[in-house]
Amino acid sequence: MTEVYVLGHNHPDTDAIGSAMSLAYLLNEMYNVKAIPVISQKPDIETRYALDYFKIPTPMVVRTVANKQIILVDHNEIAQSLADFENSEVLAIIDHHKLEIKTNKPICLFSEPVGATATIIYFKYKELGINIPEKIAGLMLSAIISDTLLLKGPTTTKKDYVAYQDLADISGVADADRYGTEMLKAGAVINNNMPEDFINGDVKDYFIQGKHIRIAQAYVTDIAPVLEKITDIKNEMNKHISKNYCDLFMFVITDILKINSMIVVLGDERAVVERAFNTKLAHDMCYQPGVVSRKKQIIPLLIKAFLAK
Ligand code: MN
Ligand code: MN
Repeated sequence: MTEVYVLGHNHPDTDAIGSAMSLAYLLNEMYNVKAIPVISQKPDIETRYALDYFKIPTPMVVRTVANKQIILVDHNEIAQSLADFENSEVLAIIDHHKLEIKTNKPICLFSEPVGATATIIYFKYKELGINIPEKIAGLMLSAIISDTLLLKGPTTTKKDYVAYQDLADISGVADADRYGTEMLKAGAVINNNMPEDFINGDVKDYFIQGKHIRIAQAYVTDIAPVLEKITDIKNEMNKHISKNYCDLFMFVITDILKINSMIVVLGDERAVVERAFNTKLAHDMCYQPGVVSRKKQIIPLLIKAFLAK
């Protein structure tokens, strides 16, 4: 039987892992393949919470996808995938981010601007008439909660609401809102985090106009304790910048309860951020009320500012 890896992005979040596992299950039910959910790093604390809650084993961690047939979930940028990604054969992509990939042959592409990749997969289950097992439903529910910040974030759509309600019912979670709050809090950065932990968790790399941009995001219930460690965090960011020839490093500290962010900005291209948000950085930082989404509220503004340069 053909073996297919279903791969989530680097620094996998709950949507990357939930999407990989739920899509692999669907493929195994529907087609004559052996679909295996894989990730390139271990799950973070939030995903750990969801996996433990629903008693789901951790997907396999792989270092290479060379010579494999793969399906990408929750990403499509080479910069966010395994390094030898280009030596694999991409069969399909299911994603809700801007499209970046070029392929040398036709592929299946399911892309939709909804709150989570898990929402797209939920509607695939419906379309194909496949029952979602309780545990998988719980993990998909967790993925939607994670990406939409419990349906409060700006990327949330009606479809996410529909999927959320149904998945909550299927999963048997008594109070999904309460479960969601607990899961987000579990994943929220804890006070004994080391400076490097803050900027190595939820990290994404982008290449815009030939510039290397890295955006790390930390989800917290209070921004103040993170700012107390900001000098050490900035030192870590600067180390990364010189080591990896990074042109712009943004560290987005997001308050998941108040839905706003403090953004720390370092690197040669920092002026681009000032233009993008029409703001002046003070102590390498700017406060952005209502901004919580990299893909919807940060990346589009950066691209515009880079192009206007
Ligand atoms: Mn993701
Ligand atoms: Mn996602």
